[in-house]
Amino acid sequence: MTISLAIEGSGFTSKTRDEVRYFEHALFVIDEHGVIQSVLEPGDECYQSEKAQAQANGTYQSIADGSYLLPGFIDLHVHAPQWAQDGTGLDEPLEVWLGKYTFPTESKFADESFAHTVYEDLVTRMLSTGTTTASYYATVHRNGSLVLAQGAERLGQRALVGKVVMDDPEANPEYYRDASAQAAIEETERFINEVAKLNEHSVQGVYPVITPRFIPSCTDEALRGLGELAERYKTYAYIQTHCSESDWEHGYAYERYGRSDTHMLREFGLFTDRSILAHSVYPSEEDMRVFAETGAIAVHCPLSNAFFAGAVAPIRRYLAAGMHVALGSDISGGYNPDLYGAIRQAMISSRMLETGVNRDLAAQERGVEGSALTLSNAFYLATAGGGESLGLPIGRLEAGYAWDAQVVDTRHPGARLPIFEPNEPASDIFQKIMNLAVPENVRTVWVQGRKVVNKENGAR
Ligand SMILES: [Zn+2]
Repeated sequence: MTISLAIEGSGFTSKTRDEVRYFEHALFVIDEHGVIQSVLEPGDECYQSEKAQAQANGTYQSIADGSYLLPGFIDLHVHAPQWAQDGTGLDEPLEVWLGKYTFPTESKFADESFAHTVYEDLVTRMLSTGTTTASYYATVHRNGSLVLAQGAERLGQRALVGKVVMDDPEANPEYYRDASAQAAIEETERFINEVAKLNEHSVQGVYPVITPRFIPSCTDEALRGLGELAERYKTYAYIQTHCSESDWEHGYAYERYGRSDTHMLREFGLFTDRSILAHSVYPSEEDMRVFAETGAIAVHCPLSNAFFAGAVAPIRRYLAAGMHVALGSDISGGYNPDLYGAIRQAMISSRMLETGVNRDLAAQERGVEGSALTLSNAFYLATAGGGESLGLPIGRLEAGYAWDAQVVDTRHPGARLPIFEPNEPASDIFQKIMNLAVPENVRTVWVQGRKVVNKENGAR
């Protein structure tokens, strides 16, 4: 084993869903593959000798006092082209928003140079706020989608990228859809192979994702064909789609099939332990059992849900039912590209679900008891929960995990966090970081042991 880095610092990582572990002056020993080989605490036997050796061979780095290490964030639902329209149209209902803003925007990504400009900007922005892994929808264009995969690969982000399938002529505008179900399936298969090839020389990993936009935009023929691809490429391709996002979408599957979209996606072979199911606000008890049995991932997108879903997803219930849950920004149904925002909104939405919001009801009738998430829960969803649900060794600062990490400087000029006491409890510092950190506080980011953001040098 060759040691490529030995980093000494204090910080936070999820211990369990409910508990965050604080470490102080821990020494992370990272090998040439960017994997944490060991984590030594100051009291450990080899701590001093490992540190001295790293100092002697030039691999040692230390994180300054007042700065804290956190695992990189994992954002499992992002519409990359919608970065170009981010922040707009949020006062419209979902169906209007798609036709008026989203489809016209996404259709522009037939132009690869436009795609390049927007995608590089988004990936750079996400990395700079600590998002080290993201699952992206691109557009229907295979070439444009490949531009996104290449961009993320080159900029050093671990990315899951899907060419979007939307083939139903009844449901999609003529200027923006797949030519036919057959064409959609063939283009998806080509895309899977192109990304697999790109991944051969990738340090951090870039994965193809089979991406039916959602049931309402696809024909049965396309859904069936994509399910067959999911089976054929199950060792390295993921699957993503929207599931039970809104009353309209949830009701749509019942109208078309007389069954839930969870049930139908499973019938089509699109609901497996590699399925990333955005929103998942309305699954029934039976659907929830399907999630738990298959190991599919419900991606909580709390900000976007506040605009478009019509309800708050009961995340505590999902976790209690044994479902995998991760967090998503849902650019641009949610406007905030920074996962700190999703952590905060997950807390806020869950508290509103707990208490209820209609003040005309009596307090005891207003809310849903047992719904509130703690900051530790939300942090888990953004880090370890995302990693576990993908089946990848990411999201924790522990031996055996990839060194995907961010440094948050609580004393950065202009973005100082209100920490005044010399011995402020670590749990308070953690809460202040989660609730108050802004992009300027994130100073350094690594993915798979490689430094991809270094604001101290004046770069990105
Ligand atoms: Zn979405």
